[in-house]
Amino acid sequence: MSITLFDTHTHFDVPDFDQDRLQLAALAKKMGVEHLVLIGFIAERFQNLIACQKQLQQQPDVPKVHLAPGLHPFYIEQHQAEHLQQVEQFLQRENCVAIGEIGLDTFLKVHKQPDLFAKQQHYFAVQLELAQQYQKPVLLHIRKSHAEVLKMLKQHRFKHGGIAHAFSGGVEEAKAFIQLGFKIGVTGQISNPNAKKLHTVVQTIGAQHLVLETDCPDMTPLCCQLDQHSRTRNTPANLIYVLEALAKSLNVQQQDLAQILWRNSFAALAL
Ligand SMILES: [Zn+2]
Repeated sequence: MSITLFDTHTHFDVPDFDQDRLQLAALAKKMGVEHLVLIGFIAERFQNLIACQKQLQQQPDVPKVHLAPGLHPFYIEQHQAEHLQQVEQFLQRENCVAIGEIGLDTFLKVHKQPDLFAKQQHYFAVQLELAQQYQKPVLLHIRKSHAEVLKMLKQHRFKHGGIAHAFSGGVEEAKAFIQLGFKIGVTGQISNPNAKKLHTVVQTIGAQHLVLETDCPDMTPLCCQLDQHSRTRNTPANLIYVLEALAKSLNVQQQDLAQILWRNSFAALAL
């Protein structure tokens, strides 16, 4: 039996892949990746998401490509009111699986400043409203703001679930997202034995609440990194190594785990 995989979070549209995207897509398919999601972060690149999907749709033997437009909290300084309208137009014109990636990010000190944090909250709130209106799940980006994101999801009585991507919270936070209908997104970070918090989270909550993602071109699994000093480009073809590392962490068979994660991905994206 062959393994089928769903890469629930990629930036496969970015210029890092312009030279060899089709070869990498073919390789990903060969490595079991049947579906991938292209995720938005700034309005300026929305057309690239669509173009990337078109480029891949014309090819045989590549993963099926899904779209999720959204305005990422880390790029908050760049977002303008009209970009929210562009998210809505995108939802109206294209077949989208979700809105993403959206959320809150206070990793940088500057983003904790009241004006910028309020702007992040505003953009997150408006996009949550759009997700309610268009009945779409959301792909959440959360850094150092789990409590705030949970609070806003509850305030909005958000009911369409989605994925808490590249999860960096603890067990209690993971459980709270699961309770609100979310799956927990696991990246190549799981290949790092020192990522103790993440291993504890996945082992405690179990496979039924997890999905896989590469978050390419970032988050390259340890096994695929060429050296310790320079950043190695991650690609959807590396998703199998995320599965491998997660199976090891959970002490289960890759084949069995893949089947559960496959079903979880379809459930999280309401496909
Ligand atoms: Zn991302």
